[in-house]
Amino acid sequence: KNFAAAVANYSSLPQPQTTPDILYTGVFINNEWHKSKSGKIFETINPTTAEVIAEIQCADKEDIDIAVQAARNAFKLGSPWRRMDASERGRLLYRLADLMERDQVYLASLETLDNGKPYSMSYNVDLPTAIKNLRYFAGWADKNHGKTIPMDGDFFTYTRHEPVGVCGQIIPWNFPILMMAWKLGPALATGNTIVLKPAEQTSLTALYIAQLVKEAGFPEGVVNVVPGFGTAGAALANHCDVDKVAFTGSTDVGKLIQLASGNTNLKRVTLELGGKSPNIILSDTDMDYAVETAHFGLFFNMGQCCCAGSRTFVEDKIYDEFVERSAERAKKRTVGNPFDLNTEQGPQVNEEQMEKILGMIKTGKKQGAKLVAGGSRPEGLPGYFVQPTVFADVQDDMTIAREEIFGPVQQLIRFKKLDEVIERANNSEYGLAAAVFTKDLDKANYIVGGLRAGTVWVNTYNVLAAQAPFGGYKMSGHGRENGEYALSNYTEVKSVIVKVAQKNS
Ligand code: NAD
Repeated sequence: KNFAAAVANYSSLPQPQTTPDILYTGVFINNEWHKSKSGKIFETINPTTAEVIAEIQCADKEDIDIAVQAARNAFKLGSPWRRMDASERGRLLYRLADLMERDQVYLASLETLDNGKPYSMSYNVDLPTAIKNLRYFAGWADKNHGKTIPMDGDFFTYTRHEPVGVCGQIIPWNFPILMMAWKLGPALATGNTIVLKPAEQTSLTALYIAQLVKEAGFPEGVVNVVPGFGTAGAALANHCDVDKVAFTGSTDVGKLIQLASGNTNLKRVTLELGGKSPNIILSDTDMDYAVETAHFGLFFNMGQCCCAGSRTFVEDKIYDEFVERSAERAKKRTVGNPFDLNTEQGPQVNEEQMEKILGMIKTGKKQGAKLVAGGSRPEGLPGYFVQPTVFADVQDDMTIAREEIFGPVQQLIRFKKLDEVIERANNSEYGLAAAVFTKDLDKANYIVGGLRAGTVWVNTYNVLAAQAPFGGYKMSGHGRENGEYALSNYTEVKSVIVKVAQKNS
């Protein structure tokens, strides 16, 4: 289902809990709650009001060491987890998904409180997508089998797909529950153990889901959730007893993770990093649909999407009308309290992100882009809000056309020819996603073939599913999440070559 349709479907939405109970703020190791070793805590802030929601235990290297040891013990040969039938691993994942569904109103409310995303979105998009993802990978648990291989000579050769071992998983704040599900599903289906570090801005839902992991019946030490800052993430990335790190976040930190692997034990690394995704609109497209979908492709989740369509290339012939319509649409976007079911846009996740975005808007104006909508903070809202903003006359070399903004700021860029736009679309250090809007299938296929991006949407945007691989070319990362491809990130392949004795020899 298209996310756009899901966001718009309010009819069956149960009322949110606007003050959900904060039940878990500790360090989750071995299915138990602990205080941080240092005794330090940090505050998590409600971005809608700028008020403190709760104090969370601030874990660091010492806590990471303990969590990694717990995950290592859970991975020992003969442990309950290693002895568990693959189908039983799948059953536990199904159970976790069921528990998240049972608590969907609570979890969606908590996500909205901590992250600021509209409840209509956390309930209708984030939770169902995360739940489906766990179910999808639950189904894989007893199907990730190897091959038998014909060899010269008297040998029976087969491959075993074995878990990599202890996996460090470091996740961002833009889709806290969904990113957790993307990480847990394939790792647990394939029999790994986990130390997961949520983003410091949005730890609350990860900690609640940790308790659901226990309730689902996962043995102790299989999933450990350690809240803390980047230093805790760095301790995980540098740990010599961690076999693999999966990271989603900024390209700068992705580079550090890769370096940490090289400097320590060459642990496997998968990275899902930033983007500056081109969205190419040809003049033969349906104008209403393209304006609305390009708007959604950028403004969804307050623009805080790694795959946001943040370079909208529009064909010369329709450019002026497209600019006018896009500006009109942005001005109509409803910004406000994310618990209000009609709100399309809540606050940015924190003050730092809001300031970064406002700084980018300033740079855009300074470098000569034409501001046609928004451009500042909306009046009368105490939190970290930014007006839906649209720039026209954007040139390829402007900062706003090159760097990730991660906010509600749309760049409209003019183009004339297909080959020209393919080259310009590819002229970026990133290659996460792209889209093309046209009624001409030949043109669509030609552009799809030319684009250097891990996902290309045709006549749609932001359609992500458990079944379809997702990941980046170039500096958008490496490895693919979702789909069958994700299993290989969490699996070592062992060749077993057996001498077959001949009866008469
Ligand atoms: P970040 O990369 O700093 O944080 C992501 C995660 O990495 C968090 O859990 C954080 O604690 C952890 N981390 C930070 N420093 C670390 C280190 N040295 N070693 C290991 N882990 C570390 O992202 P941010 O500062 O929250 O956001 C900055 C920018 O990153 C955003 O403006 C946006 O451009 C981009 N971003 C991208 C995504 C994405 O989905 N690809 C998500 C969030 C942010």
